[in-house]
Amino acid sequence: MKKWVAVFLALVIVGVIFSGTLAEIKERGKLIVGTEPTFPPFEYVNENNEIVGFDIDIAQKIADELGVELEILNLPFDSLIPALISDKIDLIVAGMTITEERAKVIDFSIPYFNANQAIVVRDGEPFMPQTLGDLKGKKVAVQLGTTGDLVVSDISGVTITRFQKFTDAFLELQNKRVDAVVLDEAVANAYVKTFPKFIVAAVIDTGEKYGIGVKKGNEELLEFVNTVISNMFKSPYDLLVEKWFEETK
Ligand code: GLN
Repeated sequence: MKKWVAVFLALVIVGVIFSGTLAEIKERGKLIVGTEPTFPPFEYVNENNEIVGFDIDIAQKIADELGVELEILNLPFDSLIPALISDKIDLIVAGMTITEERAKVIDFSIPYFNANQAIVVRDGEPFMPQTLGDLKGKKVAVQLGTTGDLVVSDISGVTITRFQKFTDAFLELQNKRVDAVVLDEAVANAYVKTFPKFIVAAVIDTGEKYGIGVKKGNEELLEFVNTVISNMFKSPYDLLVEKWFEETK
């Protein structure tokens, strides 16, 4: 009896230590990535009800390099970090900005995309904000827990409505229940392209960089992700230079 308890405990300990590591991911044959898919063109649900986008292609590349399947878990943005910490997912690939606060609780890969915030309003209406200060006294929709939420929360006198989905934030703008939506510029452009009744009124230079989230202490996986990203940055020309010059040094 005691022996079985010991074996069970050993398995639990091994499970805890190896969960989410390279060995465990390969063993289970799939990489589990968490994302919030109302963030085009990084991650969104297409007409076939599939989650696709720039981030998903990066996640697929990582899975391919590992030789495993890719599983995408659709989660609210503010649940991604808790899900990573509690081993429900191996990686966060969600256009997540590398911030000091977040870097205290999770690790980030090398940056893979630059971003700024944008203010989106209804086109053809007099309210055309140029700065964050112009949002004073207005109603603004954001996504809960994002950097857009943070910058708007810093302005006094703004009524903020926080949504889990950007699609709901834009519905609120369309229905005139808010005056603006604040979100990442590339995503703002994607929404405006799909819904021409909206317009990007201003871009706020926040100098953000996106990184892939990895659980703290999971060095092996972090290294692996960094290698995949830095290899993606290399052009065929860079690879030739590496092959014929750098390696012979
Ligand atoms: N880049 C922003 C952030 O990290 C928004 C990301 C998102 O909504 N997917 O907070």
